[in-house]
Amino acid sequence: MSESNKILRGTETDLEFENKIRPQELDSFNGQDKIIENLRIFIKAALMRGEALDHVLLHGPPGLGKTTLAGIISNEMGGTLRVSSGPVLDKPGDLAGLLTNLNPGDVLFIDEIHRLSPIVEEYLYSAMEDYKIDIVLDKGPSARSIQIELNPFTLIGATTRSGLLTSPLRARFGIQCHLEYYDTRTLAGIIHRSASILNIPIDGEASREIALRSRGTPRIANSLLRRVRDFAMVKGDGRIDLDITRFALGALNIDARGLDRMDHKILSTIIHKFNGGPVGINTIATAVGEEGGTIEEVYEPFLIKEGFLKRTPRGREVTELAYTHLGIVPPAQEGTLF
Ligand code: ADP
Repeated sequence: MSESNKILRGTETDLEFENKIRPQELDSFNGQDKIIENLRIFIKAALMRGEALDHVLLHGPPGLGKTTLAGIISNEMGGTLRVSSGPVLDKPGDLAGLLTNLNPGDVLFIDEIHRLSPIVEEYLYSAMEDYKIDIVLDKGPSARSIQIELNPFTLIGATTRSGLLTSPLRARFGIQCHLEYYDTRTLAGIIHRSASILNIPIDGEASREIALRSRGTPRIANSLLRRVRDFAMVKGDGRIDLDITRFALGALNIDARGLDRMDHKILSTIIHKFNGGPVGINTIATAVGEEGGTIEEVYEPFLIKEGFLKRTPRGREVTELAYTHLGIVPPAQEGTLF
């Protein structure tokens, strides 16, 4: 195959790539062992009773497998998956349209469920509890409401911000799962699996190196694999080994602990502009030019988990580890060196 053809082969769209490597059944989902073990039981029991699975709430940072799990649950239950999201369902009519089209045992997945409008959320309550919705026909004095029976279905809600969910909505989910960041071994296994589906030759050391720098997140692991593959094809013979991996990740500004440019910017801004903190999230957001919500959902949880940042009642503070990692002398040690 010519070099240009080889490169063309590597340009599949994100969606094609996703569809190829997204696990379809419980057995091919790596990690989150406790959640998988429990879901296996709940699914089996629901199938034995011939009922729809209880509603499921999945919460955790982006890219950890919430959408994937929703697909798996619907496959295992033998239903069809319908996908929507909180911000899209802005009128009760949108939700009613979706719900009335569900067949028995179907799964309705609502991503970013914390962003549902309060009125749509109210409609969801009776749908979840009794498989019924009330629809209002006409307006003004002739307005009347009719009740529509729905087929038994499972709602799977996903959220990165479970704290923003109202308690009545949260209480209606019989099964609640919190997805955790993945350990390096599991991520290396996910990278190995994706690479073998895509016929990418990769050795164990290289999978481990990508895993180490993937912020505990399968989506990042898969996307780094794709980028490293590009480097391996163009700079090498297509094989991914430790050297090409280190070279590629260096070129992508992903450091040895998986921190990227924005992580560095956040930490160094807190250090240089705010004396290490404490400083409020919105002030940090303005200083680094990113949305407060994105910092809170995407960057901060990992920086906290890895011990670079702390949350205090007065705001965010960097830790000593952040100083050492960025090669900056912490204020407490300044002067002691001379
Ligand atoms: P979320 O909905 O939580 O943002 P996704 O379900 O879209 O995350 O997962 C992101 C990517 O990571 C997908 O490409 C999926 O194939 C992959 N992925 C997630 N979890 C796993 C897992 N446990 N095993 C293998 N691949 C996974």
